[in-house]
Amino acid sequence: MTNPIAPPVSQKKGILYVVGIGPGAEGHTTPEALAAIRDAELVVGYNTYIKLVSHLLDDKQVVRTGMTEEIGRARTAVEHARDGARVALISSGDPGVYGMAGLVFQVLKEMNWKRGESPELRIIPGITALSSCASVVGAPLVHDFCAISLSDLLTPWPVIQKRIESAAAGDFVIGLYNPASGRRTRQIVEAQQIIRQHREGTTPVALIKSAYRKQQNAVLTDLDTFLDYEIGMLTTVLIGSSQTFTYEGYMVTPRGYTNKYTWDGKPIEGQRPGHSLRLTEDQPQPIQGDQE
Ligand code: SAH
Repeated sequence: MTNPIAPPVSQKKGILYVVGIGPGAEGHTTPEALAAIRDAELVVGYNTYIKLVSHLLDDKQVVRTGMTEEIGRARTAVEHARDGARVALISSGDPGVYGMAGLVFQVLKEMNWKRGESPELRIIPGITALSSCASVVGAPLVHDFCAISLSDLLTPWPVIQKRIESAAAGDFVIGLYNPASGRRTRQIVEAQQIIRQHREGTTPVALIKSAYRKQQNAVLTDLDTFLDYEIGMLTTVLIGSSQTFTYEGYMVTPRGYTNKYTWDGKPIEGQRPGHSLRLTEDQPQPIQGDQE
């Protein structure tokens, strides 16, 4: 079988920046990410993300593509960079979290690229949706959490179901990326049903749409009622653990300090700073966080 990706045509070493621009507003894009975009001759990205950085693109060549054209976008970026250009391939949030970084490596592998050859890779992290969305609603990720994408476009649904089940059983705070789209509405309903088997209906749930963009909207609700609200492609869903609570319209998951200390900072009787939490009969299994 012939390799579908053409061999190098130039010896000049290019740079491929794989850039995370954060959630939206420029204030949340790192200086490194902005510098990479400024340095690039060619910027490649999905339309929405290109729009978010359009003010930085005046003198540049831009390749915008639609949602389902990721392979083409990654190949375009890699091939131009391999041929000597400075290219920025843009992802929202972090490029290494449901972003383009993985596909870039697959394209490089397919073309048998080796370290030291063109292009030089610079992967620039960004604030991922879990972090930005958490900050909008308070402090929901202060104890163990996990991220699950509900998109079954590239992952079989039974695999996703199993992960939801495991996360729910493990009492993780669960961050759901890609919870629904115009066509994909069933997955979030099934996710709710699975998680509800392990958690109270009153468990806090936050729906954060377009964090740090003009259309930002956040709803704090609970496991029994969150499906009554709009959930779409621009929403991240945060589902609390058994310890997560709401306070003054915020969602908070405690770290566990009050399992060990009183509010004047002294250890509770039987507990020792710097040592594993001691379990007592009254407090048999704090899976995580404070006992409320
Ligand atoms: N690389 C991105 C994730 C891309 S997957 C990152 O690190 O954030 C796309 C999903 O991310 C969306 O369906 C949504 O669930 C979430 N998302 C991305 N940006 C968001 C934002 N500004 N507000 C809320 N959710 C967002």
